Amino acid sequence: MSEKYDVVIIGAGPAGYVAAIKAAQLGLNTACVEQWLDGKGKTLLGGTCLIVGCIPSKALLDSSYKFAEARDQLGVHGISVEATKIDVPAMLARKDKIIKQLTGGVAALFKHNGVTTIAGTGKVIAGAKVEVTDKDGNVQVIEADNIIVAAGSVPVDIPPAPLDNEYIIDSTGALELTEVPARLGVIGAGVIGLELGSVWNRLGSDVVVLEALEEFLPMVDAQIAKETAKILKKQGLDIRLGARVTNAKVVDGAVEVSFSTADGEHVETVDKLIVAVGRRPRSEELFTSDSGLTLDERGYIYVNDFCETEAPHVYAIGDIVRGPMLAHKGSEEGIMVVERIAGKAAQMNYDCIPSVIYTHPEVAAVGKTEQELKADGIDYKTGVFPFAASGRALASNEPEGMVKLLAHAETDRILGCHIVGPSAADLVQQAVIAMEFGSSAEDLALTVFAHPTFSEALHEAALAVDGHAIHIANRKKRK
Ligand code: FAD
Ligand code: AMP
Repeated sequence: MSEKYDVVIIGAGPAGYVAAIKAAQLGLNTACVEQWLDGKGKTLLGGTCLIVGCIPSKALLDSSYKFAEARDQLGVHGISVEATKIDVPAMLARKDKIIKQLTGGVAALFKHNGVTTIAGTGKVIAGAKVEVTDKDGNVQVIEADNIIVAAGSVPVDIPPAPLDNEYIIDSTGALELTEVPARLGVIGAGVIGLELGSVWNRLGSDVVVLEALEEFLPMVDAQIAKETAKILKKQGLDIRLGARVTNAKVVDGAVEVSFSTADGEHVETVDKLIVAVGRRPRSEELFTSDSGLTLDERGYIYVNDFCETEAPHVYAIGDIVRGPMLAHKGSEEGIMVVERIAGKAAQMNYDCIPSVIYTHPEVAAVGKTEQELKADGIDYKTGVFPFAASGRALASNEPEGMVKLLAHAETDRILGCHIVGPSAADLVQQAVIAMEFGSSAEDLALTVFAHPTFSEALHEAALAVDGHAIHIANRKKRK
């Protein structure tokens, strides 16, 4: 039996590695168990987010946007580009360099803070202990006063479209395509499907997105979702709603995708097919039945609001537990848990977690959507400001989209902010901060914003809540 730790964490994704660093900073003797190995058998820290998720997808989104901008957008500035060419292997190499830098950065931070990395696959066993099996099959049992499970998630696969990792691929495969497919199919118009579809669409693929639901982005505010659909279709994404994929097979080096719509059965032939139908918690083989851990009805490890499982001193955080599958949500849960272990009174505000879709323009949101407020019977006011009326947006040739602010009808407290437009991810953060401080729309309206900025659109939306916008005609009565 090895030394006893204060905290042992299973998984070094953004939930686990942040928890590990914070725990060590709080003076807790901390170890983190991670199974991910690079091609040379060396442990890779950073999880889905750094290796096959947030960061590589954003690297490719940025590269592909620059390419599309040079090809399609610079003429308006009077700049002509003779011929734009994309070197896909060079684009992938840049992405891989960023991954290497960031995963290496986590390893350096572990070292600096004194976190012990244990290479292998961890399993919670009875008595709140962790059994770790390394790549050679050696087993050790780690003892700890506290265990945090942060094993994350994996892509969902569906029987009609089994992966062959060559023609039918998941999000990880879509980050590794070495040439631009002439015709690309994407199953699922969710966040990942739209982001990866956008990458290859910008680089010249003819992209068809097949989505089973009739509604586009049902979790997004309906007005923003409608605007987003319009913008993405204009960019050339062929998004088919109400299209349920029923079969996919490789025939003569291409994929024949069958799908059903209200009109009947259809077939599309594509060079590659990305299956992006969501992610599921990675809970198999993660704990023994006598460990005290349980799964909820959707397969997530059951936890309460403080991420405590049903086993004493065992916690679970990140994608393996309920709530949005977002890196920052898991990281904050990790910080809350280790602060509580260290005796602090920490808690999470699950009502104030921003989410972003990194299309261009970005789609970002925090708080309630208009449809949710209606369903909850809450009286609300709206303030909307289009980027077409923003001086900065026009100067930057980014006139598409809008900021929408929702505030309580009586208290004026901000209940939600929904944006499609330039730098939406960064703009929404201002609303997150305002909401964390319990601001009213008037508080934002009374704040001075620098001119000219995209942020002024948020200011104007706050002013518009009570009919006081300056740079658009107010339709509602001023209060
Ligand atoms: P993970 O990142 O999945 O990490 C879990 C870790 O645990 C892994 O390293 C795994 O190897 C390890 N592990 C699992 N089981 C064991 C075990 N038994 N023993 C030892 N180790 C184990 N989120 C955002 O917020 N913003 C984005 O822009 C964004 N973009 C994304 C793009 C793509 C293409 C994908 C796939 C995801 C994206 N996400 C994004 C989601 C984000 O990556 C996840 O929400 C986040 O990584 C979850 O963090 P986690 O630490 O809970 O799990
Ligand atoms: P998300 O969970 O946000 O990544 O989105 C995944 C999307 O895939 C959801 O909108 C699902 O409706 C969609 N989806 C799941 N199965 C199918 C299928 N067989 N055909 C088309 N779309 C699907």
